[in-house]
Amino acid sequence: MMRDELMKMLEERKDEMIEIRRYLHEHPELSFKEEKTASYIADFYNGKDVQVETNVGNGHGIIVTIEGASSGKTIGLRADFDALPIIEEADVPFKSKNEGVMHACGHDAHTAYLLVLADCLIQLKDKINGKIKIIHQHAEEEPPGGAKSIMETGKLDDVDAIFGIHVLPMAPAGTVGYHSGFSFNGRTYFKLQIQASGGHGSSPHKANDAIVAGSYFVTAVQTVVSRKVDPLAAGVVTIGSFDGKGSFNVIKDSIELEGDIRYSNDKVQEVIDKEIHRMVKGLEELFGVTCELTYTPDYPPLYNDPELTVFVAETLNKVNDKDITEVKEFPKLSPSEDFAYYLEKIPGSYFYIGCTPKGVEEPYFNHHPKFDIDEDAILVAAKSVGHVVCSYLTQK
Ligand code: MN
Repeated sequence: MMRDELMKMLEERKDEMIEIRRYLHEHPELSFKEEKTASYIADFYNGKDVQVETNVGNGHGIIVTIEGASSGKTIGLRADFDALPIIEEADVPFKSKNEGVMHACGHDAHTAYLLVLADCLIQLKDKINGKIKIIHQHAEEEPPGGAKSIMETGKLDDVDAIFGIHVLPMAPAGTVGYHSGFSFNGRTYFKLQIQASGGHGSSPHKANDAIVAGSYFVTAVQTVVSRKVDPLAAGVVTIGSFDGKGSFNVIKDSIELEGDIRYSNDKVQEVIDKEIHRMVKGLEELFGVTCELTYTPDYPPLYNDPELTVFVAETLNKVNDKDITEVKEFPKLSPSEDFAYYLEKIPGSYFYIGCTPKGVEEPYFNHHPKFDIDEDAILVAAKSVGHVVCSYLTQK
């Protein structure tokens, strides 16, 4: 049976996965600048009997197509490969050699497992019905991200289902987590420039105060979530920047605010969008100012297809794999993830691989300068996704 063969191959190549992860960890590159990482990935496929497309999308994306022996479904598997602008503080022998850049989100582990899994699947392709598209994605960490642009190329139009994983230190290696429906928050950046007219502090009647209008907006915007959003859903509006510096006795003519909006689903997104635009319009009327609103949605909320999420959970429960010790539901997560763009068009599931370093009680989370993983999780990732591939492509 192909499943047993694949699992055996993966087990035998565990050390190689760890080696790849360590190499990538030592050589991290920032989003959209992952030239060497992309070359390393493309080189890995040299001489293998597959189609490799490079520079896919708005950066260094790579799609590898593995054609099975007979026709069937097409499955997409994605791993991201960019790193973060963080000075590494983790005490590991394979510390970042690129000062100020660190694989602090585990994308090195994602890429390591997927390369080896892909290679095993290439070797087994005569036994595969259907097609596998391996998506090595650049620039997950920095909006607009790589996923959206990869979708826009149309190269994934034939994909029937897509899967991906993220390592998370909230559970030990061996645990696989899943969450059905909306699972990661969506996010929008906004900037509001308010133009009023300046003047002397002693003569407010001859000016129009931008600070007062801006302050009013900051207060009013607090009611969007508290009064308009369904209390069972979640939304956040944060004004993170308010540029009001000036002289104590001068009425400011203009100010600029910047903020961050998060939402757990598309309905909340709609409500917040509408309310903020309405408030900005109202502010102009109320204070006689001119407003310029820059409103830029980044990643949408991530929606895991309920059927395919149950499929992942059931598959991994049924297989009785010694390396997958627990399969359980994880909570919704508040960050954003551009895998959401694939899931807007292709049904699929993005699930979690526990990776708490051994002997650590309170692990550092993703994006922390001391973030680290239990490398056993890399094999768990390869096997979990491998099992999903075997089950999905042999479905009736
Ligand atoms: Mn990540």
